[in-house]
Amino acid sequence: MSGESDEHERTMAFCEIALGQIKALRHPATPRNYEIWYSYATGYHPSLNQKINETLSQTGTLTDADLDSIYETYLAPNRLTDRIDTVGSKVMGEIEQVMAMIDAAAGSASSYTESLAGMSEKIGASDREGLRAIVEGLVATAKEMEESNHKLEERLSASKQEINELQVNLEAVRTESLTDPLTQLANRKFFDSTLDEAIGIARDSNEPLALMMTDIDHFKKFNDTFGHLTGDQVLRLVAMSVKQNVKGQDTAARYGGEEFAVILPNTALRSAITVADHIRRAVMTKELMKRSTGEHLGRVTISIGVAALQPGDTAAMLIDRADACLYAAKRNGRNRVICEADPEVTPDEAMQVA
Ligand code: GH3
Ligand code: MG
Ligand code: MG
Repeated sequence: MSGESDEHERTMAFCEIALGQIKALRHPATPRNYEIWYSYATGYHPSLNQKINETLSQTGTLTDADLDSIYETYLAPNRLTDRIDTVGSKVMGEIEQVMAMIDAAAGSASSYTESLAGMSEKIGASDREGLRAIVEGLVATAKEMEESNHKLEERLSASKQEINELQVNLEAVRTESLTDPLTQLANRKFFDSTLDEAIGIARDSNEPLALMMTDIDHFKKFNDTFGHLTGDQVLRLVAMSVKQNVKGQDTAARYGGEEFAVILPNTALRSAITVADHIRRAVMTKELMKRSTGEHLGRVTISIGVAALQPGDTAAMLIDRADACLYAAKRNGRNRVICEADPEVTPDEAMQVA
């Protein structure tokens, strides 16, 4: 429902805030500074905003060194591709080092075998002195082998630790790439793949699957009245209400600007309607307040459309039907849940919950 012109307006508001800050603080209008202030305007990195606010309140300005450190701390490490490249090249480096150690160990093991073979040939023909020299030789080579094995063991154990850390790091990067930064819900990419997967599982196991599409009512007006930053706080709050009312197996995602979707595996339409109505009630009962000023902002409501998977459905067909129900909820006065008619639910129950 959010069109291109909405997106233009929204991002222009961030752009104006960013340029306003650059002008007010007389910072050079470099891409780095613009990125910092744009990010500040979106509020996507609450810790960046906190750091800037703290520094400003302590010193009244931000020096170039402050900006450098803020960029490095909050923005540069968030460039996922850079982080993935770094982790990738570290893994390659680690593997190369271990391979080199294994080659060296294999080399010393084969020279040990050779020297053992050479000595065993000599044993038969040796006198007492000769045997003593052979035993000493064997002890020395065995000691060398032990040292080289010990080094390899140490190296392998260090690598194991390093690789475990890299794995944790990669998992964090992967999770971040599938998470919406503003609301911390799943992002659209994760939603798309999860829905495809859930449809496959529902079909194979013959289980029901429901999909819920949610859109905030008159949100444009809210943004126009209270500003986009406050609007973003409301998005976080609605996201939290969605998350708190769904179970572990369900996937709550930010589908678009102010639209949320929930995939409910193994859930019949009737139960999905109940969940949807809990979410709707949770949102409408929250009295909104601007944290910075304590100003009361009233309440927001949401409309929800719910559809159930039908035989032969693709993800797009299921989304379209849930979306059609959402539009019907908007047409019928908003702040309500509308779902497809379901034979096991009476039409009154099925069509509308408000
Ligand atoms: P309706 O009840 O018909 O849904 O009315 P609406 O005004 O909510 O209309 P629509 O769903 O088309 O809302 C789109 C608006 O949502 C435009 C924009 O102001 C707001 N919006 C979209 N994404 C964001 C966002 O990330 N942050 C903020 N603050 N607002 C957003
Ligand atoms: Mg919308
Ligand atoms: Mg809306």
